Amino acid sequence: MTNSADTHCPYCALQCAMTLTSPAELAPAPQPGPVPVPLLPTLHSSAPAAAATAALEVSGRDFPTNRGGLCRKGWTSATLLNHPGRITEPLLKGPDGVHRPISWDHALDLAASAVRDARARYGADAVGVFGGGGLTNEKAYMLGKFARLALRTSRIDYNGRFCMSSAAAAGMRAFGVDRGLPFPLEALDTASTILMLGSNVAETMPPFVQHLKGARDAGGLIVVDPRRSATAAFTADGGGLHLQPLPGTDLTLLLGISHVVIHEGLVDTAFVEERTAGYSAVVRSVNSFWPERVQSLTGVPADLIRETARRLAAGARQGGSYILTGRGVEQHTDGTDAATAAINLSLLLGLPGSARSGYGTLTGQGNGQGGREHGQKADQLPGYRKITDPAARAHMARVWGVPEETIPGPGLPAVQLLKSLGQPDGVRCLFIHASNVVVASPDANAVTAGLRSLDFLVVCDFFMSETAAEADLILPVLQWAEEEGTLTNLEGRVLRRRRALAPPAGARSELWIMARLAERLDAPSTYSEDPETVFEELRLASAGGLADYSGIDYAMLDRGEAAYWPYPAGSTGTPRLFRDRFAHPDGKAVMSPVVPRRRRTPAASPDPAAKTMTLITGRLLEHYQSGAQTRRVTELLASQPEAMVQVHPAAAEAMGITAGSLVSVANERGEVVCKAELSTDIRPDTVFLPFHFPGLGSANRLTEAATDPTSGMPEFKFNKVWVRAVAAPLSSKMLQTTEAS
Ligand code: SF4
Repeated sequence: MTNSADTHCPYCALQCAMTLTSPAELAPAPQPGPVPVPLLPTLHSSAPAAAATAALEVSGRDFPTNRGGLCRKGWTSATLLNHPGRITEPLLKGPDGVHRPISWDHALDLAASAVRDARARYGADAVGVFGGGGLTNEKAYMLGKFARLALRTSRIDYNGRFCMSSAAAAGMRAFGVDRGLPFPLEALDTASTILMLGSNVAETMPPFVQHLKGARDAGGLIVVDPRRSATAAFTADGGGLHLQPLPGTDLTLLLGISHVVIHEGLVDTAFVEERTAGYSAVVRSVNSFWPERVQSLTGVPADLIRETARRLAAGARQGGSYILTGRGVEQHTDGTDAATAAINLSLLLGLPGSARSGYGTLTGQGNGQGGREHGQKADQLPGYRKITDPAARAHMARVWGVPEETIPGPGLPAVQLLKSLGQPDGVRCLFIHASNVVVASPDANAVTAGLRSLDFLVVCDFFMSETAAEADLILPVLQWAEEEGTLTNLEGRVLRRRRALAPPAGARSELWIMARLAERLDAPSTYSEDPETVFEELRLASAGGLADYSGIDYAMLDRGEAAYWPYPAGSTGTPRLFRDRFAHPDGKAVMSPVVPRRRRTPAASPDPAAKTMTLITGRLLEHYQSGAQTRRVTELLASQPEAMVQVHPAAAEAMGITAGSLVSVANERGEVVCKAELSTDIRPDTVFLPFHFPGLGSANRLTEAATDPTSGMPEFKFNKVWVRAVAAPLSSKMLQTTEAS
């Protein structure tokens, strides 16, 4: 081990490159000390006594995606490595609700016993696994294998179902493969037009913004967002256009833009004829979405719809045009169709596969891309293989050395898995890895109730997250800078994560935990705790699959070689997909006609004083996902300490809401009470809540667990809520929306 290590940020899918340096010698493992975990019923016998100061120095490293830049989350990421709230021993919850330390042997025996009990009483599918998009490729791969062979359950899925599955389903349908960006990010630099829908990269991944400069300088940055987000603000002063549709109408807007492309003769007919199928059906499907009608449905002026189509077509002929989608388009019950509409538009213009244009979706979580390729999805086996495909099952049975029939079939997608908790025929014993479902899941109150109805809940985490607090057993795991492994960034490029710090003595890697549990459960096959050995197995498992990693190894990654999948053994990888063919058997892309669906009529407010509005949720610059990590970083918490609901001043005035006053945002699922932030950046009929906060500030108390029928992705971005001013002040305890630990 050296005292500096080149690695990547632990948070988002941009995976900014950084170097970690120990100021002197390697920082020591946390030392025994007092028990600094207020607000939570936990007793540690040992915990780090040090204050939350940086264990390592972070410096940005030159890399094509971030070019040395980091956002404030990345700069402060090392402060969590010796945070006083770190869990460093297995913790068992007693009858009094207090977590107390136990030995690893005892903890593993208990977990194995809970698995055997659930299996004996209810069957193998009574055991469930919930994974995360932050796990390394090695851990995601091993989690799928562990669930299916050691636990013998089909019930495994992960939180990537919440953030990537609709774009993934649309990509599979259109292109036959799903890689978020099928081109290196640097390709955007030279584009003259970029249409970005439902993504606020200026806050979620700020170093990305440098890749928009070329389009912005050319006046060709077009941002679609119901809010004037920080990214949308870049379109001001000649930078481009901001289209501000009604929430939930992206699909309709895209049909309107496609209508203009077709009816103004802007289609790349040679490309469509040669490289696509389904054109005629798409033409018929958009015929009734002329710009003035789309204006009436979306609120976007018809002239802006026409202008967008013309700029995209002009860019495709000169400079390059890209269409990029994010969660704002996808997190809907018709998210797969909305992403499909974006892909159809890109195909009409001949963008995918072009040398200077393209379509892509922006993956969010750190390993959101790799995490969905290697087997922690309910319906997939490693290498992006379908679990129902006999050839795929036979291949994995050979790699794992087990009879094919021992590999279970498809399980339940994440929302259904969580709905099944404690139910007849549902999951009774659950393992959660790298996910804070109490804060991050739709209809969060119902998810918490489901967790409490389990016979046994095991959570692997390094902090007492809101989900860990619900666990019967907490198993302390390693943080990013304490482990080796690989992740796959938003470009489909495989990167090395390197160990720079010795972990606390009591923490263990998930690979070690799975290996020890597999022994106790007499599981077939092998479960290495060494990341490189697991990666070598992953290479074999992925060989011949869509996400083929068989030509990649640690040595080449350590040399800094760019490794974009598919990377079959003997090849040089695939920085740009689709240059010659798409991944369907005939080599063509498929255009599928899609049309908007009617939405369910929302329930009426029981309070006549409340105004029914649309809620959209999203991220803040300072926080990442459920905030389980970033709410523990002093600088980030100081900057954004609590949830605030963004309300337009005109709407606020009508409801008697003033800046900083308390607002109730409620619906039939729950209630959020927080302070108001007045802003003309939001529509008067819409409110915005960040989703990083727990308790009364938890936006996901309000989101619905309705899902897209194709992808299983929940409806995060369009929920009806009842908004009113709160007359009576609440106690400070009720307003507690963050943890200080
Ligand atoms: S943009 Fe993402 S990867 Fe880069 S520093 Fe920020 S959180 Fe980390």
